[in-house]
Amino acid sequence: MIIPPVQIDYPDWVQHTVDWDRRYTSDHDKMRLAIDLSRQNVVRKTGGPFGAAIFNAATGELVSVGMNSVVRLNNCTLHGEMVAFMMAQSRLSCFSLRTSDGPEYVLATSCEPCAMCLGATLWSGVRRVLCGASRDDARRIDFDEGPVFPDSYAYLAERGIRFEHGLLRDEADEVLQLYGSSKGIIYNG
Ligand SMILES: [Zn+2]
Repeated sequence: MIIPPVQIDYPDWVQHTVDWDRRYTSDHDKMRLAIDLSRQNVVRKTGGPFGAAIFNAATGELVSVGMNSVVRLNNCTLHGEMVAFMMAQSRLSCFSLRTSDGPEYVLATSCEPCAMCLGATLWSGVRRVLCGASRDDARRIDFDEGPVFPDSYAYLAERGIRFEHGLLRDEADEVLQLYGSSKGIIYNG
């Protein structure tokens, strides 16, 4: 039995829509990119309505982007945040974005993380998370976020990870609604 290696790549549109040289200095700049990625993923039919990006917190440099790739790559773990974590760590050649002497990193995600992504947020090493739409917004179009509890957030906060919720929530929710009304696939619903 030969099982093919797991390969994770971006859809083609990433190379001509993402501006890698720009500095995303404000929280809104960062969130706008995450929402734009979620929208592109829906419009170009490459996955679910979720986008994410990781930035150097001090400089606003873009390190990686992520978009839901579950169906495209036949992999239940490839949520937008997971793709962003994997690509950032691959690019920086490290298994954690948290080092004693390195810069801090911030994740922007177009929707509050599910149970898997919230767990991975802890291991990823990002120090701050910006969230757009809420889990209730996702649930409204039948996506289940899994076992995420207020205690889950408290646990991460105790470990120094700061969360901002509801950033540009209406814009982020618009993309969820767009996906819902276009009858996109609800995997793991
Ligand atoms: Zn997730």
